Amino acid sequence: MADKSGKLNLKELSFSDSVSYYFDKAAPFTNTPKGLLDQIKVCNSIYKMNFPVKWGNEVRVIEAYRIQHSHHRMPTKGGIRYSLQVDQDEVMALAALMTYKCALVDVPFGGAKGGIKIAPRKTPVEILETITRRYTVELVKKNFIGPGIDVPAPDYGTGEREMAWILDTYMTMRPGEIDGYGCVTGKPMSQNGIRGRTEATGRGVVYALNEACSYEDDMKALGLSKGLDGKRVIVQGLGNVGYHTARIIRQYGAIVIAVAEADGAVYNENGLDIDDLYRYRQDKKSVRGYPKGKVIADSASALELDCDILIPAALEKQITDKNAARIKARIVAEAANGPVTPAAEQILLKKGVMIIPDIYINAGGVTVSYFEWLKNLSHVKFGRMQKRWEEKHQTNFIKLVEDLTGQKVSAKRINDLIHGAKEIDLVNSGLEDTMIEAYRDIREFKKRHKKVPDLRTAAFAVSINKIRDSYYAMGIFP
Ligand code: GLU
Repeated sequence: MADKSGKLNLKELSFSDSVSYYFDKAAPFTNTPKGLLDQIKVCNSIYKMNFPVKWGNEVRVIEAYRIQHSHHRMPTKGGIRYSLQVDQDEVMALAALMTYKCALVDVPFGGAKGGIKIAPRKTPVEILETITRRYTVELVKKNFIGPGIDVPAPDYGTGEREMAWILDTYMTMRPGEIDGYGCVTGKPMSQNGIRGRTEATGRGVVYALNEACSYEDDMKALGLSKGLDGKRVIVQGLGNVGYHTARIIRQYGAIVIAVAEADGAVYNENGLDIDDLYRYRQDKKSVRGYPKGKVIADSASALELDCDILIPAALEKQITDKNAARIKARIVAEAANGPVTPAAEQILLKKGVMIIPDIYINAGGVTVSYFEWLKNLSHVKFGRMQKRWEEKHQTNFIKLVEDLTGQKVSAKRINDLIHGAKEIDLVNSGLEDTMIEAYRDIREFKKRHKKVPDLRTAAFAVSINKIRDSYYAMGIFP
């Protein structure tokens, strides 16, 4: 990490070292003793496994991980990623980010992450299922999964289907466990999932950007106008997070001028129709040849196009010291985990770019996972008990207003007013509130501590303070 003179070489940091670097940068603003900082920073449990699977006529050894970064709150929580890039350092970094993310948005979990080193799109579905089930068995064997222990969720390369396999394997091994459905989140609706989980990370990114862009003085400092309306946006990645972010941000009046995918980017100055592009990509398995925009073969160069907001929503280390100087966006919103390296961050901050950090801006996924876990433990859908009661109550109230005023309220107005909250309404409202409150905490902290240089440092400091306080409350540290 450090050279002979003891100076940190930012360009050489591994992913987990870069998370530690951000942590160390924020620590002095938190008034936390060194021993406790060390305890917060370190990964608590690392489980690396290798197991065999039958693959056609051969047997292959699969490398997989589950890493629990912090047990200060239980259960631990975090997704499982399927990718050939998976290694211990990556999973450690992602698990640590989960801890800071959960603390920041008041989701009462420690952080964890899992990874399996496979290429999911190139693996036959039956083999994917075998691997997922075997991985779950390994977790059960070592007591690394359970509603009160460690609760996985989707991440890069996984989704509802994999979560359903995990749930089924867990339930088979733990029959009769009354809260068993809470052993994993991001499940399909038919398996006790929750409405709004699939798009939650993307929706959270948009709520966060809407809040960040609502402060006139902050926007003025960036040379931008207030609000999302009319902002020109570039999104990297049309996976779950990128797709929903791009789709939802358009509903706020933003114009998505470019989408960069692994095999090429599409650009249209007048704005792209995201659903149309998504369907094209699903159909052709590529964005190449898309007729309603200019296709750029060198996908990475699309990040350097002129825009207001750049949203990397794919993988880590996408903006590095190699391309940072050419980035023209005034706001970089880290929808992915770790997309900007520390060396790139220095360059961007010098240019006055606002970086909205991953531990805040992509926390919508785990927030709605928390709601799903609560639903599973309470064994009742949100809104089920009160929806009809609320509607009756509102109807009576309107009748009273009509009686007192002698005026009739129109049927449409009544309909709008009496509508009781459904599960999706409550989920989205809880998510919006979470994203707004957390942004205000970060912004306030930065304003109060004049020496805090950027939003990431403020976000880490707010998060470390909360974790410190829960250690103090346990009485472990004096
Ligand atoms: N994988 C997502 C993340 O990185 C969600 C984790 C969860 O829902 O537990 O935040």
